[in-house]
Amino acid sequence: MAIDPFVVGVARLRTQLGATAPCHLQGLFDPSGELKAPVPGESEVPDGGEVIFDGTVESIPKGIVASGRVTTTWEGVCRRCAVDVGGEIDVAVRERFIEKAAPEDEAYLLKGDLLDLGPMIRDAVVLELPIAPLCHEGCKGLCTQCGADLNEGPCGCEAPGDPRWATLDVLRRPE
Ligand SMILES: [Zn+2]
Ligand SMILES: [Zn+2]
Repeated sequence: MAIDPFVVGVARLRTQLGATAPCHLQGLFDPSGELKAPVPGESEVPDGGEVIFDGTVESIPKGIVASGRVTTTWEGVCRRCAVDVGGEIDVAVRERFIEKAAPEDEAYLLKGDLLDLGPMIRDAVVLELPIAPLCHEGCKGLCTQCGADLNEGPCGCEAPGDPRWATLDVLRRPE
């Protein structure tokens, strides 16, 4: 098995409390395929996409603090017109890794002198993935009747009644 690109040895750093070291890591976001979007078109880091951590690690009592930025790219489809969309993720992170982390510690587990930043990096990216991306704010979407892309102009279909006004239409109907 290949060496995990997000695992760093911190034995030397931990000999001195408060010591810091620069940390630059880069690797596959999802080598096992388990983080793929559950629904096609939902935003995800593309197959083979890499993620970068650029920051520092610092020795604290019983553990390590990692802080820096996580960057990668995502892709998906516009929720209105289904065109391919994508963008960059660039998120600041600062997390503790401690020995024997309990759930209330809100920290990642530090296993001996090996610091695995992978869980922190992947969690940060997953939280930043757009849930329902748009190609642009004013996207008009597709015509519900003929499927034409309304961003390219009107399709000529009769505009369907707005369901929100259906009740008013009933009230307005002549006796
Ligand atoms: Zn769109
Ligand atoms: Zn139409």
